[in-house]
Amino acid sequence: MKLALVGVGQAGGKVMEALMGYDRRAGVGFVADAIAVNTARADLVGLDATPLDHRILIGGARLKGHGTGADNELGAEVASEDINEVMGAVDEVAVHEIDAFLVVAGLGGGTGSGAAPVVARELRRRYAEPVYGLGILPGRTEGSIYALNAARSFLTFVEQVDNLILFDNDAWRESGESLRTGYDRLNVEIARRLGVLFSAGEITEGQAVGESVVDASEIINTLGSGGISTVGYAATAVERPKARLFARRKPAPDVGDATNRVLSTVRRAALGRLTLPCELAGAERALLVVAGPPEYLDRRGIERARRWLEETTGSMEVRGGDYPLDSDYVAAVVLFSGVTDVPRIEELKGVAVEAQRRMQEIESEGPEGLHDLTWSGDGDEDGLD
Ligand code: GDP
Repeated sequence: MKLALVGVGQAGGKVMEALMGYDRRAGVGFVADAIAVNTARADLVGLDATPLDHRILIGGARLKGHGTGADNELGAEVASEDINEVMGAVDEVAVHEIDAFLVVAGLGGGTGSGAAPVVARELRRRYAEPVYGLGILPGRTEGSIYALNAARSFLTFVEQVDNLILFDNDAWRESGESLRTGYDRLNVEIARRLGVLFSAGEITEGQAVGESVVDASEIINTLGSGGISTVGYAATAVERPKARLFARRKPAPDVGDATNRVLSTVRRAALGRLTLPCELAGAERALLVVAGPPEYLDRRGIERARRWLEETTGSMEVRGGDYPLDSDYVAAVVLFSGVTDVPRIEELKGVAVEAQRRMQEIESEGPEGLHDLTWSGDGDEDGLD
């Protein structure tokens, strides 16, 4: 599936580059183009892989390249004012060659949170291709301003995209690790999941072709039009003699083992930590991709796993396929789309309501009151950008 990526804000740019890194290492080419958008010049300079003429500074006249300071209304305003700068870069993309746009942003800060929905809305207005969002939810330790930003941005962003794939930083935090030091690790996890998903179907020359490949239309149909998604992933190591790499599709040494391996890997992917933890029952649609050496991509296993996903979600719209890959692992990626029972979203909305109430209260108290909102007290938060 060919994508044009638009990374908005600091997290947006870094996660976008993590996806580009996955794509480059895998040699697939699902990233057709990449554009970084930011109000902070330093964040644009800090990027590695994005071409210089695809790094777009917005709000330069007002903010002088210093960012929005976690003010997402300001982020939205300058994005609207400078939307033509962003669209100027998008116009250079060979849009007829892409299957979709993916707008990537952290929803807790100012730039990505405010500007990503504005960019998505304009992309949808101008182009017929689907526009998807990849939103990063803030950690609980980042304070209520971040939660408030995320809750408000979420409500707007989800309306402006065909589907919003979410990743919750909080669910992925390791104990003893601050969010900031963990970002690179989180970005690798995001890129691995979405990388396998978007690579599926992009068969490169010389690569083995799967028995039932997942193509772009299946991803697009699973994402549907509207709602939010979460992604699960698991991998199981397999032993493979080097000489057999991609020689020909051969049955795995023991077919029963291969079936069970696929099934148990898929179950671990679905029941383990999702990018956004949620209740699977009630998901509207799902897509399963089983990736790995061709001889281990057991068809019966994939079919049984697909049926198990139908039972688990209660959905009759579960697609599945394989993705042959030169690897020592069998990996399963499951995309659950149209999920509704998401405790973290409810929590963020609750925090947002409370933060708004407190903000009204402290308006009369002067500047000290604001400190309470941004500082949650466990010493883990850094200043805003
Ligand atoms: P912006 O530049 O104003 O959009 O704000 P940031 O992107 O710096 O921060 C917004 C949110 O993204 C915060 O909740 C951060 O915790 C999160 N964030 C920042 N950088 C990264 C990153 O590299 N990876 C991930 N997963 N989250 C990040």
